[in-house]
Amino acid sequence: MAEHTITLIPGDGTGPEVIDSAVKCIDAVGVSVNWDIQIAGEAVMKKYKTPLPDHVLDSIKKNKVALKGPLTTPVGKGFRSVNVALRKTLDLYANVRPAKIYPGVKVLYKDVDLVVIRENTEDLYAGIEFQKGKKDTKQLMNFVQRTKKTNLSKDTAISLKTISSHASKRIIKFAFDYAVKHKRKKVTLIHKANILKFTDGLFLETGRKIAKKYPKIAFEDRIIDNMTMQLVQKPHLYDVLVCPNLYGDILSDLCAGITGSLGLAPSGNIGNKYAVFEPVHGSAPKYAGKNKVNPGATILAGVMMLHYIGEHKAADRIEKALIKVLKEGKYVTYDLAKKRPVGTKEMADAIIKRIERS
Ligand code: NAD
Repeated sequence: MAEHTITLIPGDGTGPEVIDSAVKCIDAVGVSVNWDIQIAGEAVMKKYKTPLPDHVLDSIKKNKVALKGPLTTPVGKGFRSVNVALRKTLDLYANVRPAKIYPGVKVLYKDVDLVVIRENTEDLYAGIEFQKGKKDTKQLMNFVQRTKKTNLSKDTAISLKTISSHASKRIIKFAFDYAVKHKRKKVTLIHKANILKFTDGLFLETGRKIAKKYPKIAFEDRIIDNMTMQLVQKPHLYDVLVCPNLYGDILSDLCAGITGSLGLAPSGNIGNKYAVFEPVHGSAPKYAGKNKVNPGATILAGVMMLHYIGEHKAADRIEKALIKVLKEGKYVTYDLAKKRPVGTKEMADAIIKRIERS
């Protein structure tokens, strides 16, 4: 009998290709997994009238852990993000996104090893929105104009930025606990509290209070616009970044770029009961079915997942095999290749060979 039962969501676009690579690496390292395959997203929309059917959620609730490929969200119209729905419904409040420079990866910087800890359930990203011209939008506008003595143009659309004390406390505490566990030295809190005094102000005030309980971890804060420049110029100065949802989303792609490629950026969505691991990148639809994109981010999401379920040795073996392939530079995809790139499958095969030899 398999030792672990894990929900597997292949995802849209390039998702199935990168998920296949990660599953093969986990098989090659000898961890016994019964994959409970569940389809979500565009592919099931017609059949179930929702991109996130209940049986997918039930599978994750039963198995507690999932590995997932990216899922497409239509831009500016259509159904709302399945990723956001998964994170909110399962209360996966901490999004952990490591970004470090791997040997062999050519980048402008040296010694960058960052972790973005992103709040995952609220903020502008929660998608509480009011459409232009609708009745509820007008009611909200009337309320805002009355109470805030401000004028809003009739053709306004509104998205709510919500930040709570409760969610701020638990994500900032998570970031400090992560720093302690992983022997990190500093937590930097990101905000725009000079302008957003009540929402980001609450996040910052909460951070300052919690920091006092962790005297061995340095604490500082940065305003988001300054932080983007700091990360481009001096990324080596930063260690653990704790961010409200939207800033965390944007900064983690920036950190992936600084450290080499979105194709090497994994993430874990972690709550008190469940965890879902996935690459930071999206479904890259233009490359779907083309055996083109880097499987590294999803393989590393698998590595994070193995650590989470206590399979540390297997996780280290996969990461070391990936590092060997990156160092050799011969079997890497277009985003990393100096000369002739290989495809998704060929890069994964090279990693699997090195796992089998380890
Ligand atoms: P994307 O991450 O899919 O692509 C951005 C850029 O990075 C593209 O140039 C792409 O080719 C490149 N890229 C992505 N993955 C790569 C990989 N593994 N190796 C090499 N290069 C890679 O972002 P997008 O184009 O803004 O979004 C496409 C879709 O994905 C949208 O529907 C979006 O909503 C969705 N998305 C989903 C998730 C998720 O499931 N968690 C995350 C981000 C975006």
